[in-house]
Amino acid sequence: MTVKQVVLLGPPGVGVKAQASELARRWSVPHVSMGALLREAIAKPSDIGLEARPYVEARELVPDALVMKLLRRRLEQPDVMLNGWVLDGFPRTVAQAQALDQWLAAVGLPAATVVYLKVMSGLLLNRLWTEREPDETMPMLRRRLERHEAEIAPLLEYYQPPGSETDPDGPAQLKTLNGSRSFAEIASELAQMGSEETGAARTIRDEAELDSLLARESLLVVDCMASWCGSCKQVAPLIDRLAEAYGDRASIMKIDFDTNRQISKRFGLKGMPSVMFFKDGELLETLTGVKPYQTYSAALTRFLN
Ligand code: ADP
Repeated sequence: MTVKQVVLLGPPGVGVKAQASELARRWSVPHVSMGALLREAIAKPSDIGLEARPYVEARELVPDALVMKLLRRRLEQPDVMLNGWVLDGFPRTVAQAQALDQWLAAVGLPAATVVYLKVMSGLLLNRLWTEREPDETMPMLRRRLERHEAEIAPLLEYYQPPGSETDPDGPAQLKTLNGSRSFAEIASELAQMGSEETGAARTIRDEAELDSLLARESLLVVDCMASWCGSCKQVAPLIDRLAEAYGDRASIMKIDFDTNRQISKRFGLKGMPSVMFFKDGELLETLTGVKPYQTYSAALTRFLN
């Protein structure tokens, strides 16, 4: 994904807000939470806040036009416009989803990536039961889930019209992730989405994949980077260029440090980014920090001979 604009959706009990906050932290982009925007507007109080207040107090949906106005004000701010965002609590209706898409198109931004954290409702009831307020009963929790299901179904259909999964030209806007895993596992998978760039150098999933590459590839170059690291962003395109130039003679890949922290100790990395050159599974050289393209290509050529 070139621009980090992510909408996180999921049922109650899956920790959508906490995941959104964690993802925004890892990517160093603003976290925009509709619930928080509304609470802020009400506390101030602003005109929008005064209008929204009775709905929020009744825990009913605030009218679409009102929430969209509030969201647009936030998304129009420069930090968000430049860096992207992770959004939770929005959209809750198809009209809101359409309004967001229309606004993004109008300001010339690409469509957002929508991620749905899917969990079986049986599992969710268990989780909600342990986290519930003391006065919440099982029927109340069931109703909360039913309300979510009624709300989410048309949204999922909007982002992925039936039949579009198999259409290669169809919108690949919706990603469904297994939300029944641990918080840390989900957080890693979400953060990884940002490193699936379209560049020529593919991203290695995990250490197991790295091990099999080390056993298989005679010449392997691995750029270890992290989404929060500024200089990694300078090196990534050079590694892509290297992959384009030498991809037929060597394997040139990236690996995300955040989801594979143990490799730092394993290979004695001293900083980020670290570009490692392996020959027959053995680490021969590590280039740390930003180097000119020629330094990477010269190292590679040396090992090719
Ligand atoms: P919850 O929905 O779990 O109560 P939130 O903090 O997400 O918690 O939202 C609090 C309230 O704000 C909701 O009950 C609703 O009144 C309002 N609200 C939040 N997001 C939206 C939205 N996208 N559209 C309309 N109303 C919203």
